Amino acid sequence: MNKMGRVWLVGAGPGDAGLLTLRGREVLEDAECVVYDRLVGEGVLALIPEGAERVDVGKSGGAHPIPQREIEAILLDRARAGKRVVRLKGGDPFLFGRGGEEIEALLTAGVPFEVVPGVTSAIAVPAYAGIPVTHRGVSSALRIITAHSERGGLPDLDFEALARTKGETLVFLMGVKNAGALCEALLNAGMDPATPAAAIERGTTARQRSAFAPLTALPERMREEGMAPPAILIIGGVAALGERFDFRKALPLNGLRIAVTRPRGREGRLCRMLRDAGAEVLSFPCIATEPLPGPLPPLGGFDWVGFTSVTGVEALLTLLAQEKRDIRELGEAKIAAIGPATAEALRLHGLRVDFIPEAYDGTHLAGGLAERKGRILLLRAEQGSPELAEALHERGADFREVPLYRTRYVKASLPQDLDMAIFTSASTVRGFAACAAEGWRGWETVPAVCIGWQTARAARECGFVHVAAAKQATLTALVEAASTFNRSRREAGR
Ligand code: SAH
Repeated sequence: MNKMGRVWLVGAGPGDAGLLTLRGREVLEDAECVVYDRLVGEGVLALIPEGAERVDVGKSGGAHPIPQREIEAILLDRARAGKRVVRLKGGDPFLFGRGGEEIEALLTAGVPFEVVPGVTSAIAVPAYAGIPVTHRGVSSALRIITAHSERGGLPDLDFEALARTKGETLVFLMGVKNAGALCEALLNAGMDPATPAAAIERGTTARQRSAFAPLTALPERMREEGMAPPAILIIGGVAALGERFDFRKALPLNGLRIAVTRPRGREGRLCRMLRDAGAEVLSFPCIATEPLPGPLPPLGGFDWVGFTSVTGVEALLTLLAQEKRDIRELGEAKIAAIGPATAEALRLHGLRVDFIPEAYDGTHLAGGLAERKGRILLLRAEQGSPELAEALHERGADFREVPLYRTRYVKASLPQDLDMAIFTSASTVRGFAACAAEGWRGWETVPAVCIGWQTARAARECGFVHVAAAKQATLTALVEAASTFNRSRREAGR
Protein backbone atom coordinates (compact mmCIF):
# COMPACT_ATOMS: atom_id res chain seq x y z
CA MET A 1 0.00 0.00 0.00
CA ASN A 2 1.01 3.53 -0.69
CA LYS A 3 2.19 5.81 2.05
CA MET A 4 -0.55 8.32 2.87
CA GLY A 5 0.04 11.80 1.50
CA ARG A 6 -0.85 15.07 3.15
CA VAL A 7 -3.00 18.06 2.33
CA TRP A 8 -2.13 21.68 3.00
CA LEU A 9 -5.05 24.05 2.95
CA VAL A 10 -3.35 27.25 1.89
CA GLY A 11 -4.66 30.80 1.68
CA ALA A 12 -3.24 32.32 -1.50
CA GLY A 13 -4.00 35.91 -0.50
CA PRO A 14 -6.11 38.35 -2.48
CA GLY A 15 -4.26 38.30 -5.81
CA ASP A 16 -0.86 39.98 -5.60
CA ALA A 17 1.70 37.18 -5.30
CA GLY A 18 3.65 39.35 -2.87
CA LEU A 19 0.87 38.75 -0.36
CA LEU A 20 1.27 34.98 -0.24
CA THR A 21 2.70 34.01 3.16
CA LEU A 22 6.20 32.60 3.53
CA ARG A 23 4.78 29.31 4.78
CA GLY A 24 2.33 29.24 1.88
CA ARG A 25 5.13 29.68 -0.61
CA GLU A 26 7.23 27.05 1.09
CA VAL A 27 4.59 24.33 0.86
CA LEU A 28 3.51 25.40 -2.62
CA GLU A 29 7.02 25.10 -3.99
CA ASP A 30 7.18 21.57 -2.65
CA ALA A 31 3.74 20.45 -3.87
CA GLU A 32 3.15 17.44 -6.10
CA CYS A 33 -0.46 18.34 -6.81
CA VAL A 34 -2.14 21.74 -6.56
CA VAL A 35 -5.91 22.10 -6.52
CA TYR A 36 -6.89 25.74 -6.96
CA ASP A 37 -9.81 28.12 -7.18
CA ARG A 38 -10.71 30.87 -9.58
CA LEU A 39 -9.67 33.68 -7.26
CA VAL A 40 -6.09 32.56 -6.79
CA GLY A 41 -3.76 35.16 -8.32
CA GLU A 42 -1.83 34.20 -11.45
CA GLY A 43 1.40 35.28 -9.80
CA VAL A 44 0.75 32.68 -7.11
CA LEU A 45 -0.12 29.99 -9.67
CA ALA A 46 3.18 30.77 -11.36
CA LEU A 47 4.96 29.43 -8.27
CA ILE A 48 3.58 25.93 -8.79
CA PRO A 49 6.54 23.66 -9.51
CA GLU A 50 7.06 22.63 -13.11
CA GLY A 51 6.31 18.95 -12.56
CA ALA A 52 3.31 19.26 -10.23
CA GLU A 53 -0.19 18.29 -11.29
CA ARG A 54 -2.49 21.32 -11.58
CA VAL A 55 -6.20 20.91 -11.00
CA ASP A 56 -8.34 23.96 -11.71
CA VAL A 57 -11.59 23.47 -9.81
CA GLY A 58 -12.89 27.01 -10.28
CA LYS A 59 -13.47 27.20 -14.00
CA SER A 60 -15.48 30.21 -15.02
CA GLY A 61 -16.70 31.73 -18.26
CA GLY A 62 -19.27 29.14 -19.31
CA ALA A 63 -17.72 26.09 -17.66
CA HIS A 64 -19.24 25.29 -14.28
CA PRO A 65 -17.07 25.17 -11.21
CA ILE A 66 -16.46 21.68 -9.90
CA PRO A 67 -18.96 20.75 -7.16
CA GLN A 68 -17.62 20.80 -3.59
CA ARG A 69 -17.98 17.03 -3.07
CA GLU A 70 -15.97 16.39 -6.19
CA ILE A 71 -13.19 18.70 -5.02
CA GLU A 72 -13.06 16.77 -1.77
CA ALA A 73 -12.90 13.50 -3.72
CA ILE A 74 -9.92 14.85 -5.71
CA LEU A 75 -8.09 15.82 -2.52
CA LEU A 76 -8.67 12.39 -0.97
CA ASP A 77 -7.67 10.58 -4.13
CA ARG A 78 -4.33 12.38 -4.50
CA ALA A 79 -3.55 12.13 -0.78
CA ARG A 80 -4.27 8.40 -0.84
CA ALA A 81 -1.85 8.12 -3.73
CA GLY A 82 0.80 9.43 -1.35
CA LYS A 83 1.00 12.93 -2.83
CA ARG A 84 1.81 16.23 -1.17
CA VAL A 85 -1.34 18.12 -2.09
CA VAL A 86 -1.80 21.86 -1.79
CA ARG A 87 -5.37 23.09 -1.79
CA LEU A 88 -5.03 26.75 -2.75
CA LYS A 89 -7.83 29.16 -2.01
CA GLY A 90 -8.19 32.88 -2.59
CA GLY A 91 -7.64 35.05 0.48
CA ASP A 92 -7.89 33.05 3.69
CA PRO A 93 -9.17 29.47 3.47
CA PHE A 94 -11.58 29.87 6.39
CA LEU A 95 -13.25 33.12 5.39
CA PHE A 96 -16.11 32.14 3.09
CA GLY A 97 -13.77 29.58 1.65
CA ARG A 98 -15.43 26.28 2.64
CA GLY A 99 -12.14 25.30 4.23
CA GLY A 100 -13.95 23.69 7.13
CA GLU A 101 -15.93 21.38 4.86
CA GLU A 102 -12.79 20.11 3.23
CA ILE A 103 -11.24 19.47 6.61
CA GLU A 104 -14.27 17.43 7.66
CA ALA A 105 -13.74 15.27 4.60
CA LEU A 106 -10.02 14.87 5.30
CA LEU A 107 -10.66 14.01 8.94
CA THR A 108 -13.25 11.40 8.06
CA ALA A 109 -10.85 9.79 5.61
CA GLY A 110 -7.93 9.98 8.05
CA VAL A 111 -5.82 12.16 5.77
CA PRO A 112 -3.29 14.32 7.62
CA PHE A 113 -3.61 18.02 6.89
CA GLU A 114 -2.30 21.44 7.79
CA VAL A 115 -3.88 24.87 7.46
CA VAL A 116 -1.85 27.84 6.24
CA PRO A 117 -3.88 31.00 6.81
CA GLY A 118 -3.87 33.64 4.10
CA VAL A 119 -4.14 37.38 3.81
CA THR A 120 -7.85 37.93 3.38
CA SER A 121 -9.27 40.18 0.69
CA ALA A 122 -11.63 41.60 3.31
CA ILE A 123 -8.75 43.56 4.84
CA ALA A 124 -6.04 43.63 2.17
CA VAL A 125 -8.20 44.85 -0.71
CA PRO A 126 -9.35 47.96 1.20
CA ALA A 127 -5.74 48.49 2.32
CA TYR A 128 -4.47 48.53 -1.28
CA ALA A 129 -7.11 51.17 -2.04
CA GLY A 130 -5.97 53.27 0.90
CA ILE A 131 -8.75 52.21 3.29
CA PRO A 132 -7.79 51.07 6.79
CA VAL A 133 -10.65 48.90 8.06
CA THR A 134 -10.43 50.52 11.50
CA HIS A 135 -9.16 54.00 12.27
CA ARG A 136 -8.98 55.80 15.58
CA GLY A 137 -11.93 58.12 15.98
CA VAL A 138 -13.64 56.79 12.85
CA SER A 139 -14.17 53.08 13.24
CA SER A 140 -13.41 50.71 16.08
CA ALA A 141 -15.03 47.52 14.82
CA LEU A 142 -15.25 45.52 11.64
CA ARG A 143 -17.89 43.16 10.34
CA ILE A 144 -17.21 40.94 7.37
CA ILE A 145 -20.42 39.81 5.77
CA THR A 146 -21.42 37.85 2.71
CA ALA A 147 -23.89 39.65 0.47
CA HIS A 148 -24.84 36.47 -1.31
CA SER A 149 -27.09 33.74 0.04
CA GLU A 150 -27.02 30.17 -1.17
CA ARG A 151 -30.08 30.86 -3.29
CA GLY A 152 -28.44 33.88 -4.89
CA GLY A 153 -30.37 36.74 -3.28
CA LEU A 154 -29.45 38.86 -0.26
CA PRO A 155 -28.91 36.82 2.86
CA ASP A 156 -31.29 37.15 5.75
CA LEU A 157 -29.47 39.82 7.77
CA ASP A 158 -30.58 42.05 10.62
CA PHE A 159 -30.44 45.24 8.55
CA GLU A 160 -31.80 47.37 11.44
CA ALA A 161 -28.88 46.34 13.60
CA LEU A 162 -26.41 46.93 10.76
CA ALA A 163 -27.90 50.35 9.99
CA ARG A 164 -27.67 51.42 13.64
CA THR A 165 -23.97 50.68 13.90
CA LYS A 166 -21.86 53.72 14.73
CA GLY A 167 -18.12 53.75 14.35
CA GLU A 168 -18.14 50.37 12.68
CA THR A 169 -16.92 49.26 9.26
CA LEU A 170 -19.02 46.89 7.17
CA VAL A 171 -17.20 44.86 4.55
CA PHE A 172 -19.36 42.89 2.16
CA LEU A 173 -17.93 40.10 0.06
CA MET A 174 -19.62 38.64 -3.02
CA GLY A 175 -21.68 41.79 -3.29
CA VAL A 176 -21.59 42.94 -6.91
CA LYS A 177 -24.85 41.42 -8.05
CA ASN A 178 -26.77 42.36 -4.92
CA ALA A 179 -25.19 45.79 -4.38
CA GLY A 180 -28.41 47.65 -5.25
CA ALA A 181 -30.61 45.53 -2.97
CA LEU A 182 -28.04 45.68 -0.18
CA CYS A 183 -27.68 49.46 -0.13
CA GLU A 184 -31.44 49.84 -0.37
CA ALA A 185 -32.00 47.51 2.57
CA LEU A 186 -29.52 49.47 4.68
CA LEU A 187 -31.11 52.80 3.71
CA ASN A 188 -34.62 51.45 4.42
CA ALA A 189 -33.39 50.33 7.81
CA GLY A 190 -32.36 53.90 8.54
CA MET A 191 -28.68 54.12 7.69
CA ASP A 192 -27.46 57.64 6.87
CA PRO A 193 -27.50 58.03 3.05
CA ALA A 194 -24.32 60.09 3.26
CA THR A 195 -22.33 57.25 4.88
CA PRO A 196 -19.06 56.95 2.94
CA ALA A 197 -18.83 53.79 0.85
CA ALA A 198 -16.54 52.20 -1.70
CA ALA A 199 -16.39 49.26 -4.05
CA ILE A 200 -13.09 47.72 -5.10
CA GLU A 201 -12.77 45.30 -7.95
CA ARG A 202 -9.87 42.87 -8.43
CA GLY A 203 -8.05 44.45 -5.53
CA THR A 204 -4.26 44.15 -5.12
CA THR A 205 -3.83 43.21 -8.79
CA ALA A 206 -2.82 45.53 -11.60
CA ARG A 207 -6.45 45.54 -12.68
CA GLN A 208 -7.68 47.00 -9.39
CA ARG A 209 -10.44 49.58 -9.79
CA SER A 210 -12.27 51.49 -7.11
CA ALA A 211 -15.46 53.49 -6.91
CA PHE A 212 -16.05 55.87 -4.02
CA ALA A 213 -19.51 57.29 -3.31
CA PRO A 214 -21.93 57.95 -0.48
CA LEU A 215 -24.07 54.91 0.34
CA THR A 216 -27.08 56.12 -1.70
CA ALA A 217 -25.02 56.58 -4.84
CA LEU A 218 -22.77 53.52 -4.63
CA PRO A 219 -24.83 51.08 -6.76
CA GLU A 220 -25.19 53.70 -9.47
CA ARG A 221 -21.43 54.44 -9.40
CA MET A 222 -20.70 50.73 -9.65
CA ARG A 223 -22.97 50.43 -12.67
CA GLU A 224 -21.32 53.42 -14.33
CA GLU A 225 -17.95 51.82 -13.81
CA GLY A 226 -19.23 48.47 -15.03
CA MET A 227 -17.92 46.74 -11.94
CA ALA A 228 -17.85 42.97 -12.00
CA PRO A 229 -16.85 40.28 -9.50
CA PRO A 230 -14.64 39.82 -7.64
CA ALA A 231 -15.25 43.01 -5.74
CA ILE A 232 -15.79 44.00 -2.16
CA LEU A 233 -17.96 46.76 -0.73
CA ILE A 234 -16.88 48.88 2.21
CA ILE A 235 -19.40 50.94 4.11
CA GLY A 236 -18.43 53.29 6.92
CA GLY A 237 -16.41 56.41 7.71
CA VAL A 238 -13.09 54.77 6.78
CA ALA A 239 -14.16 54.61 3.13
CA ALA A 240 -13.64 58.39 2.99
CA LEU A 241 -9.94 57.99 3.78
CA GLY A 242 -9.31 56.00 0.61
CA GLU A 243 -8.27 58.72 -1.78
CA ARG A 244 -5.86 60.33 0.64
CA PHE A 245 -4.27 57.10 1.88
CA ASP A 246 -3.86 55.50 -1.55
CA PHE A 247 -0.15 54.77 -1.71
CA ARG A 248 -0.14 53.10 -5.10
CA LYS A 249 -1.54 55.54 -7.57
CA ALA A 250 1.65 57.65 -7.75
CA LEU A 251 3.94 54.68 -8.40
CA PRO A 252 5.46 54.58 -11.90
CA LEU A 253 4.40 51.01 -12.72
CA ASN A 254 1.01 51.04 -10.99
CA GLY A 255 -1.62 49.23 -13.04
CA LEU A 256 0.87 47.12 -14.96
CA ARG A 257 0.95 43.37 -15.01
CA ILE A 258 4.50 42.39 -15.74
CA ALA A 259 6.00 38.97 -16.40
CA VAL A 260 9.51 38.34 -15.17
CA THR A 261 11.10 35.53 -17.13
CA ARG A 262 14.36 34.91 -15.28
CA PRO A 263 15.17 31.42 -14.07
CA ARG A 264 13.76 30.36 -10.71
CA GLY A 265 16.04 31.51 -7.92
CA ARG A 266 17.37 34.46 -9.94
CA GLU A 267 14.19 36.50 -10.06
CA GLY A 268 13.84 37.70 -6.47
CA ARG A 269 15.51 41.09 -6.59
CA LEU A 270 14.02 42.10 -9.92
CA CYS A 271 10.52 41.12 -8.77
CA ARG A 272 10.96 43.15 -5.61
CA MET A 273 12.17 46.21 -7.50
CA LEU A 274 9.22 46.04 -9.89
CA ARG A 275 6.79 45.66 -6.98
CA ASP A 276 8.42 48.64 -5.30
CA ALA A 277 7.57 50.56 -8.46
CA GLY A 278 3.93 49.47 -8.14
CA ALA A 279 3.67 46.66 -10.69
CA GLU A 280 1.82 43.39 -10.27
CA VAL A 281 4.61 40.94 -10.89
CA LEU A 282 4.18 37.46 -12.26
CA SER A 283 7.29 35.37 -12.20
CA PHE A 284 7.26 32.98 -15.12
CA PRO A 285 10.69 31.45 -15.49
CA CYS A 286 11.05 30.77 -19.21
CA ILE A 287 14.43 29.07 -18.89
CA ALA A 288 16.28 26.92 -16.40
CA THR A 289 20.01 26.33 -16.24
CA GLU A 290 21.93 23.23 -15.32
CA PRO A 291 25.68 22.63 -15.03
CA LEU A 292 27.04 20.47 -17.85
CA PRO A 293 28.36 17.07 -16.94
CA GLY A 294 32.13 17.28 -16.37
CA PRO A 295 34.96 16.80 -16.39
CA LEU A 296 36.20 20.36 -16.68
CA PRO A 297 39.45 20.83 -18.58
CA PRO A 298 42.45 22.13 -16.57
CA LEU A 299 41.97 25.79 -15.68
CA GLY A 300 45.59 26.79 -15.08
CA GLY A 301 48.00 28.70 -17.32
CA PHE A 302 45.77 31.61 -18.29
CA ASP A 303 46.42 35.33 -17.81
CA TRP A 304 42.74 36.30 -17.73
CA VAL A 305 39.58 34.43 -16.81
CA GLY A 306 36.30 35.96 -18.01
CA PHE A 307 32.84 35.33 -16.52
CA THR A 308 29.66 36.42 -18.28
CA SER A 309 26.96 35.57 -15.73
CA VAL A 310 26.23 34.81 -12.10
CA THR A 311 25.07 31.38 -13.24
CA GLY A 312 28.50 30.80 -14.77
CA VAL A 313 30.22 31.60 -11.47
CA GLU A 314 27.95 29.23 -9.59
CA ALA A 315 28.22 26.48 -12.18
CA LEU A 316 32.02 26.64 -11.99
CA LEU A 317 31.97 26.22 -8.23
CA THR A 318 29.47 23.37 -8.44
CA LEU A 319 31.53 21.53 -11.06
CA LEU A 320 34.79 22.04 -9.15
CA ALA A 321 33.20 20.71 -5.98
CA GLN A 322 31.76 17.70 -7.84
CA GLU A 323 35.18 16.86 -9.21
CA LYS A 324 36.86 17.48 -5.84
CA ARG A 325 38.89 20.26 -7.42
CA ASP A 326 39.72 23.72 -6.19
CA ILE A 327 39.34 27.31 -7.36
CA ARG A 328 43.07 27.85 -6.78
CA GLU A 329 43.61 26.11 -10.12
CA LEU A 330 43.03 29.53 -11.65
CA GLY A 331 46.33 30.51 -10.07
CA GLU A 332 47.54 34.03 -10.70
CA ALA A 333 45.09 34.72 -13.51
CA LYS A 334 43.30 38.06 -13.40
CA ILE A 335 39.53 38.00 -13.37
CA ALA A 336 37.09 39.82 -15.64
CA ALA A 337 33.31 40.03 -15.13
CA ILE A 338 30.78 41.20 -17.68
CA GLY A 339 28.96 43.43 -15.19
CA PRO A 340 28.44 44.30 -11.54
CA ALA A 341 26.12 41.39 -10.67
CA THR A 342 28.64 38.82 -11.92
CA ALA A 343 31.42 40.73 -10.16
CA GLU A 344 29.43 40.66 -6.93
CA ALA A 345 28.91 36.89 -7.19
CA LEU A 346 32.68 36.47 -7.64
CA ARG A 347 33.41 38.76 -4.70
CA LEU A 348 31.06 36.77 -2.50
CA HIS A 349 33.16 33.72 -3.26
CA GLY A 350 36.37 35.48 -2.34
CA LEU A 351 37.47 36.38 -5.86
CA ARG A 352 38.43 40.00 -6.52
CA VAL A 353 37.51 41.24 -9.97
CA ASP A 354 40.19 43.06 -11.95
CA PHE A 355 38.12 44.25 -14.87
CA ILE A 356 34.49 45.16 -15.62
CA PRO A 357 33.84 46.76 -19.03
CA GLU A 358 32.30 50.19 -19.32
CA ALA A 359 29.19 48.77 -21.01
CA TYR A 360 28.08 45.41 -19.65
CA ASP A 361 28.00 43.33 -22.81
CA GLY A 362 30.05 40.73 -24.61
CA THR A 363 31.50 43.11 -27.17
CA HIS A 364 32.90 45.46 -24.55
CA LEU A 365 34.17 42.60 -22.43
CA ALA A 366 35.98 41.24 -25.49
CA GLY A 367 37.42 44.69 -26.29
CA GLY A 368 38.78 45.12 -22.78
CA LEU A 369 40.24 41.64 -22.62
CA ALA A 370 41.90 41.91 -26.02
CA GLU A 371 43.54 45.20 -24.99
CA ARG A 372 44.93 43.60 -21.86
CA LYS A 373 46.73 40.87 -23.80
CA GLY A 374 47.66 37.39 -22.67
CA ARG A 375 45.86 34.02 -22.74
CA ILE A 376 42.17 34.24 -22.00
CA LEU A 377 39.85 31.61 -20.54
CA LEU A 378 36.14 32.24 -21.03
CA LEU A 379 33.84 30.37 -18.69
CA ARG A 380 30.26 30.62 -19.91
CA ALA A 381 27.02 29.08 -21.13
CA GLU A 382 26.97 26.38 -23.78
CA GLN A 383 24.83 28.52 -26.07
CA GLY A 384 26.34 31.86 -25.08
CA SER A 385 25.82 34.76 -27.49
CA PRO A 386 28.35 34.72 -30.34
CA GLU A 387 29.43 38.39 -30.06
CA LEU A 388 32.02 37.79 -27.40
CA ALA A 389 33.94 35.07 -29.22
CA GLU A 390 33.58 36.86 -32.56
CA ALA A 391 34.99 40.08 -31.15
CA LEU A 392 37.93 38.28 -29.54
CA HIS A 393 38.55 36.41 -32.74
CA GLU A 394 38.58 39.58 -34.80
CA ARG A 395 41.18 41.10 -32.55
CA GLY A 396 43.36 38.03 -32.85
CA ALA A 397 43.13 37.27 -29.12
CA ASP A 398 44.43 33.97 -27.76
CA PHE A 399 41.40 32.54 -26.00
CA ARG A 400 39.72 29.33 -25.00
CA GLU A 401 36.00 28.94 -24.33
CA VAL A 402 34.79 26.43 -21.77
CA PRO A 403 31.03 25.87 -21.54
CA LEU A 404 29.90 25.36 -17.95
CA TYR A 405 26.15 25.16 -18.10
CA ARG A 406 23.25 24.63 -20.40
CA THR A 407 20.04 26.57 -20.69
CA ARG A 408 16.77 24.87 -21.45
CA TYR A 409 13.34 26.33 -22.04
CA VAL A 410 10.71 25.87 -19.40
CA LYS A 411 7.09 25.47 -20.37
CA ALA A 412 5.27 28.19 -18.46
CA SER A 413 1.51 28.69 -18.51
CA LEU A 414 1.74 32.34 -19.42
CA PRO A 415 -1.28 34.51 -18.67
CA GLN A 416 -2.38 36.24 -21.83
CA ASP A 417 -3.26 39.64 -20.46
CA LEU A 418 0.23 40.90 -19.78
CA ASP A 419 1.14 44.58 -20.06
CA MET A 420 4.85 43.94 -20.31
CA ALA A 421 7.45 41.21 -20.24
CA ILE A 422 10.92 41.77 -18.85
CA PHE A 423 13.93 40.02 -20.31
CA THR A 424 17.41 39.77 -18.85
CA SER A 425 18.92 37.62 -21.57
CA ALA A 426 18.38 36.52 -25.15
CA SER A 427 17.63 33.00 -23.92
CA THR A 428 14.73 34.19 -21.75
CA VAL A 429 13.32 35.98 -24.82
CA ARG A 430 13.52 32.82 -26.88
CA GLY A 431 12.10 30.71 -24.07
CA PHE A 432 9.14 33.08 -23.76
CA ALA A 433 8.53 33.14 -27.50
CA ALA A 434 8.71 29.34 -27.76
CA CYS A 435 6.22 29.02 -24.95
CA ALA A 436 3.87 31.79 -26.11
CA ALA A 437 3.83 30.54 -29.69
CA GLU A 438 1.92 27.48 -28.46
CA GLY A 439 -1.62 28.70 -28.53
CA TRP A 440 -1.39 32.42 -27.76
CA ARG A 441 -2.34 34.59 -30.70
CA GLY A 442 -1.00 38.12 -30.50
CA TRP A 443 1.78 37.54 -27.96
CA GLU A 444 4.12 39.56 -30.17
CA THR A 445 2.35 42.75 -29.16
CA VAL A 446 3.32 42.43 -25.48
CA PRO A 447 5.93 45.15 -24.90
CA ALA A 448 9.34 43.61 -24.29
CA VAL A 449 11.66 45.55 -22.00
CA CYS A 450 15.19 44.21 -22.30
CA ILE A 451 18.35 44.54 -20.25
CA GLY A 452 20.64 45.34 -23.19
CA TRP A 453 20.88 45.69 -26.92
CA GLN A 454 21.68 42.02 -27.51
CA THR A 455 18.58 40.97 -25.64
CA ALA A 456 16.58 43.63 -27.48
CA ARG A 457 17.87 42.34 -30.79
CA ALA A 458 16.82 38.81 -29.86
CA ALA A 459 13.37 40.18 -29.00
CA ARG A 460 13.02 41.83 -32.41
CA GLU A 461 14.23 38.68 -34.13
CA CYS A 462 11.65 36.63 -32.26
CA GLY A 463 8.91 38.92 -33.52
CA PHE A 464 8.21 41.30 -30.63
CA VAL A 465 6.77 44.52 -32.02
CA HIS A 466 7.44 46.89 -29.11
CA VAL A 467 10.96 46.55 -27.79
CA ALA A 468 12.76 48.83 -25.35
CA ALA A 469 16.25 48.44 -23.92
CA ALA A 470 17.73 49.63 -20.64
CA LYS A 471 20.38 52.36 -20.85
CA GLN A 472 22.77 50.16 -18.91
CA ALA A 473 22.74 46.42 -18.26
CA THR A 474 21.68 46.64 -14.62
CA LEU A 475 18.43 45.82 -12.89
CA THR A 476 18.03 49.44 -11.77
CA ALA A 477 18.32 50.67 -15.35
CA LEU A 478 15.97 47.92 -16.46
CA VAL A 479 13.24 49.00 -14.04
CA GLU A 480 13.82 52.60 -15.13
CA ALA A 481 13.39 51.56 -18.74
CA ALA A 482 10.09 49.89 -17.85
CA SER A 483 8.91 53.09 -16.14
CA THR A 484 9.98 55.31 -19.04
CA PHE A 485 8.30 53.00 -21.51
CA ASN A 486 5.12 53.06 -19.48
CA ARG A 487 5.17 56.85 -19.14
CA SER A 488 5.59 57.40 -22.85
CA ARG A 489 2.78 54.97 -23.62
CA ARG A 490 0.48 56.69 -21.18
CA GLU A 491 1.30 60.07 -22.64
CA ALA A 492 0.74 58.77 -26.15
CA GLY A 493 -2.59 57.30 -25.06
CA ARG A 494 -3.85 60.58 -23.73
N1 SAH B 1 -11.56 33.44 1.25
C1 SAH B 1 -11.61 34.68 0.51
C2 SAH B 1 -13.02 35.12 0.21
C3 SAH B 1 -13.78 34.16 -0.64
S1 SAH B 1 -15.37 34.74 -1.06
C4 SAH B 1 -10.81 35.75 1.27
O1 SAH B 1 -10.44 35.56 2.42
O2 SAH B 1 -10.53 36.78 0.66
C5 SAH B 1 -15.07 35.50 -2.60
C6 SAH B 1 -15.22 36.99 -2.50
O3 SAH B 1 -14.04 37.57 -1.97
C7 SAH B 1 -15.41 37.70 -3.81
O4 SAH B 1 -16.72 37.63 -4.27
C8 SAH B 1 -15.03 39.10 -3.44
O5 SAH B 1 -16.06 39.73 -2.74
C9 SAH B 1 -13.89 38.86 -2.47
N2 SAH B 1 -12.59 38.96 -3.13
C10 SAH B 1 -11.65 38.02 -3.18
N3 SAH B 1 -10.56 38.48 -3.81
C11 SAH B 1 -10.82 39.75 -4.16
C12 SAH B 1 -10.10 40.77 -4.83
N4 SAH B 1 -8.86 40.55 -5.27
N5 SAH B 1 -10.69 41.96 -5.01
C13 SAH B 1 -11.93 42.19 -4.57
N6 SAH B 1 -12.64 41.27 -3.93
C14 SAH B 1 -12.12 40.07 -3.72
